[in-house]
Amino acid sequence: MSATDVITPSRLKPMPVSQPVELSPKPSLIGMTREEMGAALKEKGVADKQIKMRVSQLWNWIYVRGVSDFDAMANVSKDMREMLKAHFTIARPEIVEEQVSNDGTRKWLLRFPPRGAGRPVEVESVYIPEEGRGTLCISSQVGCSLTCSFCHTGTQRLVRNLTAEEILSQLLLARDRLGDFPDREAPQGTIMPAEGRKVSNIVMMGMGEPLYNFDSVKTALLIASDGDGLSLSKRRITLSTSGVVPEIYRTGEEIGVMLAISLHAVRDDLRDMLVPINKKYPLKELMDACRAYPGLSNARRITFEYVMLKGVNDSLEDAKGLIQLLKGIPAKINLIPFNPWPGTNYQCSDWEQIEKFADFINSAGYASPIRTPRGRDILAACGQLKSESERMRKTERLAFEAMMIANHGED
Ligand code: SAH
Ligand code: SF4
Repeated sequence: MSATDVITPSRLKPMPVSQPVELSPKPSLIGMTREEMGAALKEKGVADKQIKMRVSQLWNWIYVRGVSDFDAMANVSKDMREMLKAHFTIARPEIVEEQVSNDGTRKWLLRFPPRGAGRPVEVESVYIPEEGRGTLCISSQVGCSLTCSFCHTGTQRLVRNLTAEEILSQLLLARDRLGDFPDREAPQGTIMPAEGRKVSNIVMMGMGEPLYNFDSVKTALLIASDGDGLSLSKRRITLSTSGVVPEIYRTGEEIGVMLAISLHAVRDDLRDMLVPINKKYPLKELMDACRAYPGLSNARRITFEYVMLKGVNDSLEDAKGLIQLLKGIPAKINLIPFNPWPGTNYQCSDWEQIEKFADFINSAGYASPIRTPRGRDILAACGQLKSESERMRKTERLAFEAMMIANHGED
């Protein structure tokens, strides 16, 4: 990214955003398992012998065709549609803000209505288009209860876990906005095409620690990978964790998606400081859980994320330690240039040092792509997400953007 590529808010391409939706206390059908949906229909008087068929119809409309309005369900009788409207919703969250970076990255700030008690919450998700694929980065919590010292989200207290509906809605909404659902007029029996989708991959790498919200994340990911619905291959879904060891085992057994570990340090003393959950689950336990992850092979590797912090974890000694630590684990190493945020004391390693580090790892036989920072101009890059409750004030934000232009002109 050159200095002139950094866009200021006035140069952001304006995008129409949706109208605020009515705050709806009705339960959403989005995020229910088939069993839950069947039970909800039964409770509203749908006959037992119809339930399976109704659930399949709804599943197809919601997840294959992406409708967000019961009236669009052409093969569902009017009476049934009225009943559904009276008791349930399939509405999308409100888009509070939509930003498009000059590199094509998109960031949405979404507001979910309270269901039952509680207040609305706001969440960010980010879409990153690349050659031949597009990745949606999904949040699992509002804020985070962990306090990794280099992470902006970690400075925001945990507001609450997202529900399965809220996690999945991020994917449905991205598909809406990107025109990634098939034509609404498509014939019955339409299935989700396997190729050519704008959102081809999802990563649980937004706000929050997904394994501290295991049940909702599990439900949402199993629905996202359901072959009669959204149909994303589990190989195209990656869950990133800071290292919640017991739930890593459960992820392997109960969800079966690809795993990424936010490693960032190869010694316990340093990792205790950078990723404090290390005090509870130190490296030895973390590596044991990784070794035991089911289905690992050269084609199915664990991704180890390693943020490059100047003078902290970026020496060749660290690179050597990394190779030793990962011995015997089918692994990819993802070097992430540190993304600065206002108030941080860390700096990104010099580019030369990042390259030396990468070369060392490459020569030990590991692929170690350096993750190109994406969407930095709209604060959409790793660790920069932070939502409404503590969003930067406008003046602070403009000052920060000026700092970004000054500091990252050479990227
Ligand atoms: N909580 C989960 C999911 C978040 S993923 C986890 O920690 O794995 C976001 C990734 O970006 C994590 O690897 C995180 O450590 C990394 N990250 C956080 N802050 C960052 C920053 N300022 N610059 C670069 N990467 C950062
Ligand atoms: Fe939470 Fe992950 Fe940030 Fe750590 S890196 S504070 S676990 S979001």
